[in-house]
Amino acid sequence: MLEPHSYAAGQWVAPARDAAILNSPVTGAAIARAGGAALDFQGMIDWATSRGGPALRAMTFHERAKMLKALAMYIDGRKEELYALNPLTGATRKDGWIDIDGGIGTMFVFASKGRREMPDSHVYLDGEIEQLSRGGTFLGQHIALPLHGVAVHINAFNFPVWGMLEKLAPALLAGVPCIVKPATQTSFLTEACVRIMMDSGLLPEGAVQLIIGRTGDLLSRLGPQDVVSFTGSARTALALRSMPNIIENGTRFIAEQDSLNASIMGLDVTPDCPEFDLFIREATTELTTKAGQKCTAIRRMIVPDAMMDPVIGALSARLEKTTIGDPEAEGVRMGALVSATQKADVLEMAALIGTETTRVYGDPDNFDTQGADPTHGFLPPMLFRCDDPDAAKQVHSTEAFGPVSTILPYRDTAHAAALANRGQGSLVASVITNDPQIARDITLASAHWHGRLYFNNRTSAKEATGHGSPLPHMTHGGPGRAGGGEEMGGIRGVLHYMQRTAIQGSPDILTAICGVWVSGAKEKTGPCHPFQRTFHEIEIGETITTDPRKVTLEDIEHFAHFTGDAFYAHMDEDAAKANPFFPGRVAHGYLLLSFAAGLFVQPDPGPVLANTGLNALTFQQPVSPDDEIHVRLTAKRKTRRTDEYGEVRWNATLYNQRGDQVAEYELLTMVAYSR
Ligand code: NDP
Repeated sequence: MLEPHSYAAGQWVAPARDAAILNSPVTGAAIARAGGAALDFQGMIDWATSRGGPALRAMTFHERAKMLKALAMYIDGRKEELYALNPLTGATRKDGWIDIDGGIGTMFVFASKGRREMPDSHVYLDGEIEQLSRGGTFLGQHIALPLHGVAVHINAFNFPVWGMLEKLAPALLAGVPCIVKPATQTSFLTEACVRIMMDSGLLPEGAVQLIIGRTGDLLSRLGPQDVVSFTGSARTALALRSMPNIIENGTRFIAEQDSLNASIMGLDVTPDCPEFDLFIREATTELTTKAGQKCTAIRRMIVPDAMMDPVIGALSARLEKTTIGDPEAEGVRMGALVSATQKADVLEMAALIGTETTRVYGDPDNFDTQGADPTHGFLPPMLFRCDDPDAAKQVHSTEAFGPVSTILPYRDTAHAAALANRGQGSLVASVITNDPQIARDITLASAHWHGRLYFNNRTSAKEATGHGSPLPHMTHGGPGRAGGGEEMGGIRGVLHYMQRTAIQGSPDILTAICGVWVSGAKEKTGPCHPFQRTFHEIEIGETITTDPRKVTLEDIEHFAHFTGDAFYAHMDEDAAKANPFFPGRVAHGYLLLSFAAGLFVQPDPGPVLANTGLNALTFQQPVSPDDEIHVRLTAKRKTRRTDEYGEVRWNATLYNQRGDQVAEYELLTMVAYSR
């Protein structure tokens, strides 16, 4: 018998004597005792905020990202321990792959995004400098720093590993300690993963704690610096988000809840198109994976009038081939629902849907389970047909959280979008079409009701990730009924655990706070040319100003012939004069860039390894023949990249002989840590 323990204030806590007994959804046998332990919830909050928070905040974003990568690698090395428990949740190995490998993969993505898109420091810059004054002495910059509270993650039963890791990764990257509360029914799998994380020794003390069972008065103890991220039913979300202290303190509350996701077959699709098969394939996957217990599963299939019968026929033929049974048995494609209780709930909801539809596939009282006892968690995929989707109500409002979907007919694209929108807010809607205009029409009519729109067709079919797969790069959440929350979405998901603050002040103040040189801030002179200095020697603000160079007409003509760029503004005085931008013939912008490099580069071998690009190039004033240009080059931002070198970004500004700025850009170089 499994006994998942809580992990509170550094101690593993066993279930109480009167813990809940969890039964296998496959055999009905008792498999675990869980919950009931008396936990010191204030002690857990204190442990997180006094130990985990400070330890995480002492690390830079890159250090936290490295920790996540090491953690993901460690879990990956021991994932078979998780796969061994996975069938006890009713899930097949393929289902488990989404949960276990999907969770680990999500952590890897956040680790990599943290290294690439966040600084190797403690202050995250959100957006660019805002020019708040004419003279440039008063500027603005949005920054984000981690909240000092605790993140409470309440997860649903269907993804005991992914559900935890997709919330932990952004929170830990932000620098916020977490208390994880998995759904009790599958908590043994979450606990196994937390044990692996603790064994790794990679997490600072207090960074992650675990509650098996109820949360007691934990939520009523939360304050303004805390975050609740919840996945589950709309009913529980409402109860928790309306707790007085959550409202009074403005405690952040992120919710993912029920969702009547739709998949639309485009009007262009007929049975002889590749998109028809694609629709059937995606619909089958969503019905059978995790036995339909996915928050993103397709609950409503919206198809052109004329496609109702062909879709029902093709889907039924495909579902006929789905082998249902013990998730560990050879050849089984669809396992059991998570529990007999969940099965009863699904049947109750399916009965409601049945009041305005006809069941066209799947009989819950008569289906094959390959010898497994069908009275436990098993159900067949069930398809309903609704011929009057405009009059229907239950179809658009009742979520049967299992292998249940309804097929609805539509007249035209506007009607299809209107039906999809009847779900009152969903996590995802997919559109299978090869017609870009249909895709655009549905987007304009429908995007405001859906957290994600997924388009698939013959071009993307091979590489598309699937209607039901939330990706760490993209936001997962949806408006209205879907909870109004947003998770993941790359660094956006990290910002949910941070406070955005608008910083206003002089260039020197902003440079000191942000660790990035801001135009107008003090410049420093180094002991030698900065290209001869190592990454660590180069100081933010270190500047060189070059000698001037005259740009002659011969230079311009030579450049034009040499490169083939004989645009009239450089070569034809009359035509150039007629152009409102130019006083006459002017130098090529690219010629100026080349001369700039010739002015500021120090040619000897040294720590500068490569020029990797330039950003935000603007040509601000024309340069005429015989003008003189010079360059100011300032070290703007440094980011460690590998164990051998880091990136230095330079502000390069070009001036003419009158001191007017003529061009500006950010130059990217890789610089070694040693000579
Ligand atoms: P619940 O809302 O009952 O449970 C979700 C989580 O909340 C579980 O961890 C549960 O713990 C916890 N919980 C429940 N009550 C409280 C409380 N008072 N205080 C703190 N935590 C609480 O949803 P279910 O998991 O039972 O699923 C029911 C329905 O939710 C599904 O049928 C489906 O409609 C929807 N759902 C939606 C998902 C989505 O992502 N959109 C995912 C999964 C479900 P415990 O298990 O201990 O009760």
